[in-house]
Amino acid sequence: VLETAQKVPGKPRHKTREVKVGSVVIGGSNPVAVQSMTTTDTFDVEGTIKQIHALEEAGCELVRVTVPKPEDAGALTQIKQKIGIPLICDIHFDYKMALSALDHPIDKIRINPGNIGTEERFRQVVRKAKDKGIPMRIGVNAGSLERDLCEKYEFPCPPAMVESALRHIETAESEGFRDIIVSLKSSDVLVAVEAYRLFAKMCDYPTHIGITEAGKPPYAVTKSAAGLAPILLDGIGDTIRISLLGNPVPEIAAAFDILQATQRRVRRPELIACPTCGRLAIDLEKIIAELEGRLSGKRLPVKISVLGCVVNGPGEAREADIGIAAGNGQGMIFRNGEMVRRVAEAEIVDALMEELARWETENQHR
Ligand code: SF4
Repeated sequence: VLETAQKVPGKPRHKTREVKVGSVVIGGSNPVAVQSMTTTDTFDVEGTIKQIHALEEAGCELVRVTVPKPEDAGALTQIKQKIGIPLICDIHFDYKMALSALDHPIDKIRINPGNIGTEERFRQVVRKAKDKGIPMRIGVNAGSLERDLCEKYEFPCPPAMVESALRHIETAESEGFRDIIVSLKSSDVLVAVEAYRLFAKMCDYPTHIGITEAGKPPYAVTKSAAGLAPILLDGIGDTIRISLLGNPVPEIAAAFDILQATQRRVRRPELIACPTCGRLAIDLEKIIAELEGRLSGKRLPVKISVLGCVVNGPGEAREADIGIAAGNGQGMIFRNGEMVRRVAEAEIVDALMEELARWETENQHR
């Protein structure tokens, strides 16, 4: 994945150890991996594979399926054979489902320590995961924290969530198991942010980040961005899931957009466009729509600024890799901070694409 040269570099990535999940390595300096979860009955092999293929098509890099019943565990091998991304099993309540899932060629198992039962049951799952070489996510959730921690802290606050995670890490480590990824999810943005910050101060296991039960888009995407941006900007987070009500496919674009906006994973052109106002000198909406179409599918970490008049246009254009400042039905075109030419409004998009091709040639060995 290409990264832009940042003028303001931001906080460095929190140092975490690497955990291999099938073909994807989570943690270390690897890109923050985007994942999602199916909404089908896992035992509906055909339906589940179809949804996973749609997620893969959208760019999903790891996928999780729920395993509440023996027939769901029974479907895992068939599903795994037909998909191209690592398969994760999600276990709640029944440690026997975890043990069954581990008999299949899965790539990771997710356990909720708050509802898996006694420590001995958790140890049995850890031992089997270790024997099979399968990593585990210890998925703490504020909504299902262990009773003793809820009593100790009175409510599922960040320290309670972190204590739950550390307790289970300690148990797993005592079995010699360290292929661990941790999540500390809450539907409360403030609780989630502080829980991840606190955990990062104490531990170098990679984290799966997300705001759980965010609800229905578009608010759910905004809420997820509000919670995940502070975490990502602190350099925390090694894999991400945006939890949206309904079809999971839009989760993928939302995750990549949040990673792009926080500059943690820049992989497509960043289009800077003004909101327009009464000073507008060109048909900016038409130009942006055309540009979006022409840029679609381009995996380039380039900043393109298209502003509707000369108020901020030249300044933004100079700071971008390629920029347009409009005025009097014309566009001043900038590349790498220099004005390179002036074109009529109808030629702006073509001219911009030509300058982009030049920028690509100039930067391909960067
Ligand atoms: Fe208005 Fe010009 Fe600002 Fe665009 S750049 S919002 S047209 S003042």
